[in-house]
Amino acid sequence: MKYLILFSAMLFSVAESFAENIALVENGRAKASIVLASDASAPEKFAAETFVNYVEKITGAKLVIGTAPLPEMLPVRIGTRSATNMVKNASVDKNAGKIVEDGYIVSADKTGVTVTGNKKRSVIYAVSHLLGKYGGVIWFYPGRKVGDPEAEYCPKSPDFRIPEGTFVKNPDFTLRRYFTSGVTENEWLVLNGQQVVAHGEYGWTLPHFWKCDPIFTRGGHDMTGLLLGKDNYDKLFKEHPEYFGLCNGKRVDSGNMPWKVGQIVCQPCTSNPEVLKRMANNAIESMKLFKGKGDSFRDFSNDDHTRWCQCENCRKLDLPLDTTGNNREGNRWWHFLNRMAAEMRKDDPNVQIQTLVYQTYRYPPAGITPDPRVRVAICPHHRCYIHSLTDPRCPMNVPFRKMFEEWHKAAMTATSFEYFNQMCGLNTYLPMEKSWIEDLRFYHKHNVKGYLFTGSTMFDIPEWKANMKKYRDNPWLMKYPYDGGNWVARWQHCWMNAYFSWNIDDDYDKVYEYVNSKYYGAAWPFMKKYRAELIAALYESGIHVGYEFPDQTIGRCFERPGFPASIYKLLDQASAAVSGDVIRTRRIERDRAYFESDWVRAYKDYCRNRQSEYNAGHRTGQIVIDGKLDENDWKNGLGYITGFKLFASDGKKDAVLQTYGRILFDENNIYFGVEALKAPGASLKASKNPFSGEHLEFFISPPALNSKYYQLALNANGKVYQALASSASNCDKTFTTSIEYKITDSPEKWTLEIRIPTDKLGGTVKTGDMWKINIGRGADLTGGQQEISSVANGVFHDALDLYRTVVMGKEGPIFRNGDFEEYGAWKRPANSKHPWNFFGGKASYWYYNETTDADAEIRKDNPPSGKTYLRLIPKKSTAMLGQFVHTNQKAFPKGLKNADVSLKVRGKGEVIIYLSGKSSSGEKKNRVTFNVDSPDKWTTVSGTIEVHEQPNALWIRLNSSRSIDIDDFRFAPAAIPDSGMPSMEAEEKRNN
Ligand SMILES: [Zn+2]
Ligand SMILES: [Zn+2]
Repeated sequence: MKYLILFSAMLFSVAESFAENIALVENGRAKASIVLASDASAPEKFAAETFVNYVEKITGAKLVIGTAPLPEMLPVRIGTRSATNMVKNASVDKNAGKIVEDGYIVSADKTGVTVTGNKKRSVIYAVSHLLGKYGGVIWFYPGRKVGDPEAEYCPKSPDFRIPEGTFVKNPDFTLRRYFTSGVTENEWLVLNGQQVVAHGEYGWTLPHFWKCDPIFTRGGHDMTGLLLGKDNYDKLFKEHPEYFGLCNGKRVDSGNMPWKVGQIVCQPCTSNPEVLKRMANNAIESMKLFKGKGDSFRDFSNDDHTRWCQCENCRKLDLPLDTTGNNREGNRWWHFLNRMAAEMRKDDPNVQIQTLVYQTYRYPPAGITPDPRVRVAICPHHRCYIHSLTDPRCPMNVPFRKMFEEWHKAAMTATSFEYFNQMCGLNTYLPMEKSWIEDLRFYHKHNVKGYLFTGSTMFDIPEWKANMKKYRDNPWLMKYPYDGGNWVARWQHCWMNAYFSWNIDDDYDKVYEYVNSKYYGAAWPFMKKYRAELIAALYESGIHVGYEFPDQTIGRCFERPGFPASIYKLLDQASAAVSGDVIRTRRIERDRAYFESDWVRAYKDYCRNRQSEYNAGHRTGQIVIDGKLDENDWKNGLGYITGFKLFASDGKKDAVLQTYGRILFDENNIYFGVEALKAPGASLKASKNPFSGEHLEFFISPPALNSKYYQLALNANGKVYQALASSASNCDKTFTTSIEYKITDSPEKWTLEIRIPTDKLGGTVKTGDMWKINIGRGADLTGGQQEISSVANGVFHDALDLYRTVVMGKEGPIFRNGDFEEYGAWKRPANSKHPWNFFGGKASYWYYNETTDADAEIRKDNPPSGKTYLRLIPKKSTAMLGQFVHTNQKAFPKGLKNADVSLKVRGKGEVIIYLSGKSSSGEKKNRVTFNVDSPDKWTTVSGTIEVHEQPNALWIRLNSSRSIDIDDFRFAPAAIPDSGMPSMEAEEKRNN
């Protein structure tokens, strides 16, 4: 077992080397007993009991727990440094100064073993370390009682030995916190070196939290709670309206959300000295319960909305408006918080204070120095977790990385607030552990002291119950309802996080291999490939996933040749490899169930809602036409044109042999990479006819051809037909262009790589251009029959409406879903005060302005294009919807000065389209206004607007006394700026 020895040296780093082994159990017989303090705390008892239970599980021998050593038995003393069972120990004393925070020390020699630390939870960590390193125990995931064989690995051995010597182990992160609700989760967390957070007075009362030596917290979004203390709200408001926020000239209510229709709530008036005094006193009062009793902290954050007091004194605290809005109230917040911190520290110099940096106070303030003893909890809300913060493939994460860097530069102690449990899919079944460990390393370098994970969805908490209905579709998950939580679905992520929180520099691949090989056993070689395929699908599909992303996001991963067939094949092979092993078989079945419940379901949603446009990628490197689609440009997030339908099936029947096309472009060419799946055992037959045997047909209609299209047919042995057509019967066969192509063949598919020059198809290609493209396929089925299919519902000619819209530019249209074809089901959430109702579904990507009172309806009767349009029904004559630039910044061309906008409208009223943001000229050229009087007929409004240096949102404002219909919103660069593309030279360097 050379490998294990090598690994065990790495699994945990050891401060001092060991000499001889000390046996606690030998040949199945106990040689040691546990010595616990007579007044041992709950965590110390839990540590001792866990140790005894697992040593017995491993060896069959039960160590006795007592308060004094037993004759002939080696004493194992488990407890904190100050516990009454500890005896003088020179080696421990000598090394105790090396213990930091939750760190621990283990010392073993022939006179006994000492397992200790400064904190109660350290003792649990020390015990689990011994069981892991010398007993080989792994606790994979919570959600079952600790000890359930399905959730752990516990090898048998007649002996349990630990080496002689002393070592100290410290965590790499001070804060390793989880919000949880359950018993078994908490035990798992502390056995894996994590911390449990108990919140408020309620958390204080829960014994299953006490056992884990939790960190107690008070606070959160409770500005109103702090203002009020124990006073009566109505009385306070009546007597002291000046304590409350000023909004539009009036003192208004305070709270996290309105509790009456039409009510406005605002943050309290924190420039008022009386308010500050009250809030500080109430903050001090709220921490009385925890004072001097273990780890606790006070958490500050605004009430959960962005309306702040507008009184003169409060406004004076703000700097001139921050252009991004992300730090508008930064100064004002720290004026408030510094005062809170100073007052609280007068009462308790050791009080720990934390603040979210959130909403409009995300960055270090420019006009005030934040109290350096306050810890900032950075909230990367909506960041992408598929990519690490440092991954250059993720433009979405750039502003979030900046948050961490700026607070680091400001020399503030930081932690983070992570939102893993509310991502897409029922169970967050996403292989994101590697990206996360890279983030941990980034955190470690930037003085981020740790993280807080929001809780996980479990059977015993309300969120899971709310999801029960959805789970009913999956009989397997219903059979094992324990497994409904995303703890299990992302156990690698949780486990690796726990491990690297103590071993940040260890080798990722080795640890990944170690824990997975124990979990999957003989199935691991297949499951390793399986996970690698999921990861490749996520990365190469160019998607991003963060907090509350729709389930369908990952559906795009299915549009890959051979996916999901190879996924199912690997799962089958994995199951076969462990047949007879009940536990591991169930683990693989669970993966299969998660794949179905998250990925397959996402694909179904995706197919229903997918964006009708395809985004062609701008070539950045050289494309060698060799029939191998191995250039980076083919892989880097480019989607596929697929979902070919059978000829004459009315778009209802999928082709058996699917085809996957990808498109790239540069100024003068368009490139297709097409992979055509073959029937099992089929070989390509040569034919002189480009329309016979295995062949592809392209129908390409650039805007300059005015609805005419270039037709190209090409069979698998390279015979070509070209024409310029306006219909099936009207083709100019003399038309040719000098295409370059190459076909390759493999057992599963044949591949075409082709370059088509565009000089004769209307000239240069520009980012943002929209082309109509159809691909057809003739395929040889087993048995000699032909299958004819196309991506335009099986139709070939004369169906421009059915052809795919291809947008030039991988990043897609600057503003999404201008066709209103993408929408999700909508039901008014409980307690929602949002004025809008969304009938027939809610169109994705659009933001519906809360201050305008309107409803929206997805309608399907006679849309001007596609299947749907949007009807707006303003109740007070204005409806306003928009999209924020920063959510899709990657698509916003740098240096863009002017943009062409257009919108199809039906109705009567005023239509204003504008970009908000800072304008240097100060002139209002950033908008176009139209008076529309077309109640029964669709009409197009269009114009050009100026783009500021820092646009922040696009708005469509409709002033109408009755409903108004819109569709086909377009936003395109009016003048082509320097595209910002790296030069080919630079790109080639990067690729090498
Ligand atoms: Zn004020
Ligand atoms: Zn990303």
